[in-house]
Amino acid sequence: MEKFKYDTIIVGGGIAGLTSAVYLARAGQKILLVEKNEEFGGLVNSFKSDGFRFEAGVRALESAGIILPMLKDLNIQLETVRSKVSLGVENKILNIEDVNSIQEYRNMLVNLFPDDEIDVDKFIKSMREIMKLLDVLYGIENPLFKDLKKDYKYIFKTLLPWLPKFLIAIGKINRLNMPFEKYLQGIIKNPSLRDIISQHFFKATPTFFALSYFSLYLDYFYPKGGVGFIADKLVEKIKEFNGELLPNTIIIEIDAYKQILVDNKKQIYEYKNLIWAADLKTFYSICKLGNLDSKIQASFEHTRSQIMNSKGSESVFSLYLQVGLPLSYFNSIAHGHFFYTPSMNGLGNIHRSELNTLINNWKNIDKNEVFSWLDRFLENNTFEISIPGLKDTSSVPDGKTGIIVSFIIEYELFKKLEEADWYNDFRKAVEDKIISVLSESVYKKLKDNVEKQFSLTPISIKNRINSTDGSIVGWSFEAPVPVIHKIQRSDKSVLTPIKNIFQVGQWAYSPSGVPMSILTGKLAADRIIRKK
Ligand SMILES: Cc1cc2nc3c(=O)[nH]c(=O)nc-3n(C[C@H](O)[C@H](O)[C@H](O)COP(=O)(O)OP(=O)(O)OC[C@H]3O[C@@H](n4cnc5c(N)ncnc54)[C@H](O)[C@@H]3O)c2cc1C
Repeated sequence: MEKFKYDTIIVGGGIAGLTSAVYLARAGQKILLVEKNEEFGGLVNSFKSDGFRFEAGVRALESAGIILPMLKDLNIQLETVRSKVSLGVENKILNIEDVNSIQEYRNMLVNLFPDDEIDVDKFIKSMREIMKLLDVLYGIENPLFKDLKKDYKYIFKTLLPWLPKFLIAIGKINRLNMPFEKYLQGIIKNPSLRDIISQHFFKATPTFFALSYFSLYLDYFYPKGGVGFIADKLVEKIKEFNGELLPNTIIIEIDAYKQILVDNKKQIYEYKNLIWAADLKTFYSICKLGNLDSKIQASFEHTRSQIMNSKGSESVFSLYLQVGLPLSYFNSIAHGHFFYTPSMNGLGNIHRSELNTLINNWKNIDKNEVFSWLDRFLENNTFEISIPGLKDTSSVPDGKTGIIVSFIIEYELFKKLEEADWYNDFRKAVEDKIISVLSESVYKKLKDNVEKQFSLTPISIKNRINSTDGSIVGWSFEAPVPVIHKIQRSDKSVLTPIKNIFQVGQWAYSPSGVPMSILTGKLAADRIIRKK
């Protein structure tokens, strides 16, 4: 069989792989981007159903000084709108407009928890401090996406004055790496208040990351045409720079000694450099070392065992609704990106020790127990609600609204449900319960107007993008995290024990998300370009 040869092969056509591919192709390299699915973008994806456009992954993007500068650097024109956020608990809803809304958030919490005013103020004070640090961190266009050889004004007027402030901010940020739940226990006594503030974050989310969320709410934007449009635009650019794209292809074997890859059709590809932009457990299970140097072999085995013993972060359940109500009905209640908690009680132990008990005693649990747990879980949870039509009216047919409602959940639960053959019943029960919870609280007319409903579960995510534990942001934040998680060391996060193989994306750095996936994609591309 013919062997295809490339300067660099990138495996995984999510946002990280697309970034590496576009920059390497722009630099004149002969590249190949291999993607398992028909479409590129991975978790940056929009799709259509009966004239409604929805997001399969991330609902809106935070530029974080990275995404918009990258688009500018690549000369990609994308019309964007702000993806305005609302926060709601029971019948109290706050539309976040600007930085002053933090005071209204404080008032909303005090209104809900009048006995905890002092604790609320302590929390708001920490948030304000973090917002100042974020202004420094994301306050300039990331230098990685600037041509520093040409832009002296940027170097002397922006970058150099910013560096000392950046280093001070980084020092403070690194001291706030403890799990958010633990941090809140130190400043807030009321467990319900702690839950309302934190239950929509992943387990053990680093405090800095969680406290920075108010700033991120203000940074969210939505590309007209859907979040996935950004992936389509990158694909166009890669083609423009003569990069090769290979969809519907899964890499099943790597021979690091011979520098070859094998795909699921037994086709062989030869590379000088390889960028792995997909799940790292897959990489460490399919990579063979052959006669590579024994020191490299030892280092590889050490990293392999760390990676294989680590867990992915929690996954997500998403309900998609096609509703026969106009956008104006939903717009009169909240913005198109809405974090809503129907009960101020909070989840308490429902999503932690109770869920663990269910999973650990699975053999002795009957179906009714699981379903009754589910009811309490959904009545007290926080939902991320996205209404694409409120960001871009072209997302929906006239007079109708598409809604995505999601919540964080353990992959392991769905795995057990599948094994017990309860998966489809559970999935339907989740869908129906969410509709009834929201119809009894915030969207009273919802239940009677749902025209079609469907959902994506952690299993769907795992099957679609092949991510360990159906994870959506890479590794679990519960220590030990097997990759670099200090921002000032992010440049090293793309290295593997093998010098011409790089790792990028949500599995390469933690905590991740779209901006860090892009950043690592660019860092690896730069290393390869510099090498040449
Ligand atoms: C519901 C939801 C909400 C989110 N919210 C946010 C948010 O608010 N902010 C934020 O920053 N991030 C958010 N994220 C996370 C963000 O979407 C991801 O971290 C990011 O898109 C990851 O990009 P990636 O390229 O690293 O990985 P992926 O998107 O997972 O891409 C990996 C690609 O590799 C392909 N692949 C896997 N194995 C192989 C193989 N063997 N051969 C070939 N191809 C392979 C997969 O099909 C996939 O396309 C959210 C995600 C979800 C699902």
